[in-house]
Amino acid sequence: MYSETAKNIRESLTADCTKCFGLCCTALNIIASNDFPINKPAGTACVNLQSDYGCQIHSNLRERGFKGCTVFDCLGAGQVVSQVTFKGESWRDNSEIGDEMFRVFPIMEQIHEMIAYTAEALSYDIPHALSDKLSVHLKELQNITKLDAEQLLSLDLVMYRFPLNKLLSETSKYIRESLIAKLPSTKNSKKYNHERADWIGKKLSGKDLRALDLRGAYLIAADMRNTDLRGVDFIGADLRDANLSGANLSTSMFLTQMQINSAKGNDKTILPSHIQPPSNWSN
Ligand code: SF4
Repeated sequence: MYSETAKNIRESLTADCTKCFGLCCTALNIIASNDFPINKPAGTACVNLQSDYGCQIHSNLRERGFKGCTVFDCLGAGQVVSQVTFKGESWRDNSEIGDEMFRVFPIMEQIHEMIAYTAEALSYDIPHALSDKLSVHLKELQNITKLDAEQLLSLDLVMYRFPLNKLLSETSKYIRESLIAKLPSTKNSKKYNHERADWIGKKLSGKDLRALDLRGAYLIAADMRNTDLRGVDFIGADLRDANLSGANLSTSMFLTQMQINSAKGNDKTILPSHIQPPSNWSN
């Protein structure tokens, strides 16, 4: 399903911690919860961050209660801020740039997220008018990743997010309607729009949920074992602890690695080609 270009763009959004100055472990504000056992204010290095920017409990984060760290994915924003925006100069070597660097990181993260969604939308077989508009957005987003820190901090990301969201919705609608048209007619009458649905803990095991719109849906701890989720739009959906064991997500749309990292699954779960099965999933 993924075109070569979209695949290349997605691969360029893979985090490379060896080129990052531990920004996710420093820049972000973290509040103690089930996913992180301690409070950590923004701009303060985590107690587990080593001098080489590695994590001293990397191999047993979940056992130590730092599950959130195994879920997080900066989509390569960390290395771009470290190596492109700040040209390889670290907050450790120059304390004057720290504050700016930590504020730029979440901005770059959002830009990379938008690039990932745009690249995915462009990988689908959609009308030219739509792909032309998406291509313009992609170019703009790629260009702003090269801005300097001051310019990045002055960006109004809503100006990019709002029109892009409209195009992603159009893409989703087009792809899902094409799929619905191929389903047996009895299924064509079912309700497909469940945007922002509250399905926390809902029992959906074994159901055919193909082509549903689950944008922004709350699917926390939902039982989705062996569900057919092909063609489902998951943009912004909360999949924390949703059980996806045996589910078919092979052509699910706008699914992210972070969403999958936060869910449960097993070796029978079928994921889109750009998503890796989390190492903690059971067999
Ligand atoms: S526990 Fe490790 S991965 Fe998590 S924030 Fe701290 S240093 Fe980073």
